[in-house]
Amino acid sequence: MDMIFDRKLPIPMETKEMYPLSPALAEVVARRAGELRRILDGRSDKLLLIIGPCSADREDSILDYIGRLRRVQEQVEDRIFIIPRIYTNKPRTSGDGYMGMLHQPDPDEKPDLFKGIAAIRDLHMRVLRETGFSCADEMLYPENFKYLDDLLAYVTVGARSVEDQQHRLTASGVGIPVGMKNPTGGSIDVLLNAITAAQHPHSFIYRGWQAHSLGNPYAHAILRGYVDKHGWSVPNYHYENLMQLSEAYARRELQNPAVIVDTNHANSGKQYLQQIRIAREVMLNRRWSGEIRRLVKGLMVESYLEDGAQPIGSGCYGQSITDPCLGWEKTERLILELAEQA
Ligand code: PEP
Ligand code: MN
Repeated sequence: MDMIFDRKLPIPMETKEMYPLSPALAEVVARRAGELRRILDGRSDKLLLIIGPCSADREDSILDYIGRLRRVQEQVEDRIFIIPRIYTNKPRTSGDGYMGMLHQPDPDEKPDLFKGIAAIRDLHMRVLRETGFSCADEMLYPENFKYLDDLLAYVTVGARSVEDQQHRLTASGVGIPVGMKNPTGGSIDVLLNAITAAQHPHSFIYRGWQAHSLGNPYAHAILRGYVDKHGWSVPNYHYENLMQLSEAYARRELQNPAVIVDTNHANSGKQYLQQIRIAREVMLNRRWSGEIRRLVKGLMVESYLEDGAQPIGSGCYGQSITDPCLGWEKTERLILELAEQA
């Protein structure tokens, strides 16, 4: 093989022994998991807000950012349930660029996956301990899920992975809500097939085991816009898109129909400031239609300390090195506004 096996990595159990979760923090994770399930199955009508940087590039600025989210969460807790994004592994459209803390615990250094595994567990754990938030991450590599499974509140299957069988089968067994993104080409059929697969039980090979999953009744849709055959970004958060998805959902026998609108990516065409307008439009449509209000449980927003994005290595604290994000002041204003409209 043209592949060099550099070093054997610890299995999830060994990493967890090194970074164990205390019973008190496990209790925080469980309490938040219960609140999230109540939102997704309709018992709570709080707005779900999955918000944070495109990529978690460094521990200090992530802790700073999520500490600020904690203070806003307290102000809006009767209307909004916040799940911070800590995205530690990044899918790349053509394979190049920063691949996340898992690969590069220091974005300016060469990949070191041994350190990366410890770094991502340590970051999720520190945030939980210091801010009381269990967070969201992307399940880019299904076999890595168990490094973080006791810490996460929410996981996504990304637009480039959602048609992949191993992602779908693993999603059926993760035991926490999975947001499945529409694929980059935009097919709602592919998206609903992915949710159907994730909601059903399966037998499959996982980390060298014959395993079976129980099915995930909280697998649901995330609309992130798509790119058409000419390379144009096409949004899919408008009223008509949501009504169509509602009808398509109704034709399938799925549990807990739910949609999260991702306000960045191909919905904004990565014009990060447009996230404010898109969030407002979704809130307007939720007020206009009871059907949309029941279906659209929340928003996903890409936000960080500084507006925009920078090339990797530029060294601006709190500015994204992947997709452009909304800066802190605008973020805080947006959350307070959403609380009034939710
Ligand atoms: C993301 O959420 O940063 C992301 C990579 O999303 P998508 O899979 O929709 O491109
Ligand atoms: Mn992104």
